[in-house]
Amino acid sequence: MAVTDDRRGCEGCGRTLPVDDLYSVTMPDGYTAVCCPECREFAETAAEKQAELDQRRRACDGCGAEHRLESLSEVTLSDGTSVLCCDDCERHVPGRGGSTAAGGGESSARNGTGDAGDAAQAGDTVGGETAAVRNDCDQCRESFSVELFQVETVDGRTQAFCPDCKDEGLDDGVVRSVRMRRSEAYATLAVDGDADEEAIRDAYLEKVKRVHPDRADGSRAEFKRVKRAYDRLTD
Ligand SMILES: [Zn+2]
Ligand SMILES: [Zn+2]
Ligand SMILES: [Zn+2]
Repeated sequence: MAVTDDRRGCEGCGRTLPVDDLYSVTMPDGYTAVCCPECREFAETAAEKQAELDQRRRACDGCGAEHRLESLSEVTLSDGTSVLCCDDCERHVPGRGGSTAAGGGESSARNGTGDAGDAAQAGDTVGGETAAVRNDCDQCRESFSVELFQVETVDGRTQAFCPDCKDEGLDDGVVRSVRMRRSEAYATLAVDGDADEEAIRDAYLEKVKRVHPDRADGSRAEFKRVKRAYDRLTD
């Protein structure tokens, strides 16, 4: 069967070439284009650039952990210096005044109103010194006194949604994933809302051993839940 003279147009420049000379290239938006060698090179360079942009990361000035640049927020400390912080650190900054809360040991200097890590969802309310928990839902814009859900939308943004908006978002496909709430994460690991990193890790290791699916009485679901809780409290 002689189908060797199959020819096709390059989706880049439009030239018609033998199919054997064309390549498939996956574009940044997931579309697969069929290109001639020259166009392929061009498309791949563009795709790499895009990927780099997406992954630009920077260390948080608070905990030192690397985060995606776009998930860090600029926070002005009481002494006037600006720092870039991850959500978690941003939450702890107001009132801490001090310089960069040196790596790791984020002790328990949180001005907490309460246990269970009521954890303001770090909205735009940096600098509110009274720790009145008011969380604004990014969707309906209303204020809530409960911890909001951190959701990832289908277009890749991280937002704080109230329970109703979270449910609706899941229903109509606006929300791609929902993170465990911090309060739930603390409860899952059975630690206090002001537990430090070490206490959280100890609790996690203890718990994860007990529920490990390899154990007769283990549970894959519970195992996952414990891991999610740990991720939630440590990233
Ligand atoms: Zn071409
Ligand atoms: Zn941080
Ligand atoms: Zn809402």
